[in-house]
Amino acid sequence: MNDNHDKVYQAASLLPDDGIDQERIAAAVTEILAATGEKVDREGLRNTPERVARMYEELLAGYRQDPVEVLNDAIFEVSYDEMVLVRDIEFYSLCEHHMLPFIGRAHVAYLPKGKVIGLSKIPRIVDMFARRLQVQERMTRQIADLIMEVVEPHGVAVVLEAVHLCSVMRGVKKHDARMTTSAMHGGFRKNPATRQEFLDSISRGATPLRL
Ligand code: ZN
Repeated sequence: MNDNHDKVYQAASLLPDDGIDQERIAAAVTEILAATGEKVDREGLRNTPERVARMYEELLAGYRQDPVEVLNDAIFEVSYDEMVLVRDIEFYSLCEHHMLPFIGRAHVAYLPKGKVIGLSKIPRIVDMFARRLQVQERMTRQIADLIMEVVEPHGVAVVLEAVHLCSVMRGVKKHDARMTTSAMHGGFRKNPATRQEFLDSISRGATPLRL
């Protein structure tokens, strides 16, 4: 890893490391259940507040994942300068407007400038930003920005395709349920041919997104 740890942490936009307040979440879930008119003490619901609190701890873990630890020195000096592409990275996130899942695939490419990142680390970066309350546009940009800081390449391209359960489940605007977002930096923004090469590679043999 390079020496710009500060910039890497900034790009990771973490929350303070004092952990999630599980008791407070459990109390709030009890309130929500009571407010729906449910019998909060019936058997099926008895442990739900604590269960939900533990679940959020897991689903929102990305706010507190140390990016430097995640990357664990998996940055290597090489003279390779062709496009590196990792496609079809599955992710599960929560939309911040409804706290319901959006589920999809990420495609990430960069143009190395003397450095590459271990292949398994790109899905880890996607996961780190997915495990938060998100909007898909911001998540797309965050992945691109972090890779920009960490690998310092000639360019980064990120495309996210996802299905949003808040649209699907509520039966409104079903045609909007699937969304594609992209972030392009450097060579991918400046050079239409490079961008097209990336877009062609991710659409080749692509299987439709399914739930
Ligand atoms: Zn939503």
